[in-house]
Amino acid sequence: MATRDDVLQELGLTPVWRKRTPVLPPLPVRPAAANAVAGEAASAASAGIVDEPSTSHAADDDRAARIARLEWADFAADVDACTACGLARTRNRSVPGVGDRHADWMFIGEAPGADEDARGEPFVGQAGRLLDSMLAALGIARGSHVYIANVLKCRPPNNRSPEPAEAEACRPYLDRQISLIAPRLVVALGRSAATALLGVDATIASLRGRVHRYRSVPLIVTYHPAYLLRNLPDKAKAWEDLILARRILRDSGQAADATGAPATDPSE
Ligand code: SF4
Repeated sequence: MATRDDVLQELGLTPVWRKRTPVLPPLPVRPAAANAVAGEAASAASAGIVDEPSTSHAADDDRAARIARLEWADFAADVDACTACGLARTRNRSVPGVGDRHADWMFIGEAPGADEDARGEPFVGQAGRLLDSMLAALGIARGSHVYIANVLKCRPPNNRSPEPAEAEACRPYLDRQISLIAPRLVVALGRSAATALLGVDATIASLRGRVHRYRSVPLIVTYHPAYLLRNLPDKAKAWEDLILARRILRDSGQAADATGAPATDPSE
């Protein structure tokens, strides 16, 4: 088990705070890029790719029911073939998720960025390295006891925030992953992921520090690693969140051991 000093070192909290050059700033929306996207939209429409999720509830239900029966063998290919929202026409690679398919921990971010879009794997690049340090602080690692995914499986152009309709169109995939993995704890990384999962419009400050639930799984909210790279002092708060998450997981295990049932939600 990592000591507190080990963990603080992994998170870059020792020996002293150092002011670093902010990295991964939000990409500006360039008019040229916006025009390119508009042009692609016209091409996509002619190719049968929709800009908005289907308005047919029956079709949506059929799609959701089909995705809810997907097995791992077909999951990534199904995501890769998905055209249920307009992101299908701007992505380079879909990013289904990565990790231990029997994990206790599931970390969920907002959406793939440029690095992820290029490699087809979530949380690579500098933010990914910080997430790996956060996982190491918990004594787990990518691919061992943890699964990493995003609310959206495709990158929004210019790293814009996901549209609610896109998150809704992609939700069946995330829900199927949660059903297949059956994690004991979800960690929502950043406000966007947290509000999309919880269906609330709230600040991250108001969501941190307590236990929520998503599909009956305890859920903890903390900062997105890309945010932490730009706001170093908040790493200490992220560490508090990880401590809470580890305690919730440990307590739920003890409760299950003692009663054969999952722990109750302290927030309820
Ligand atoms: Fe399909 Fe999700 Fe990609 Fe949209 S973001 S095209 S719903 S996989």
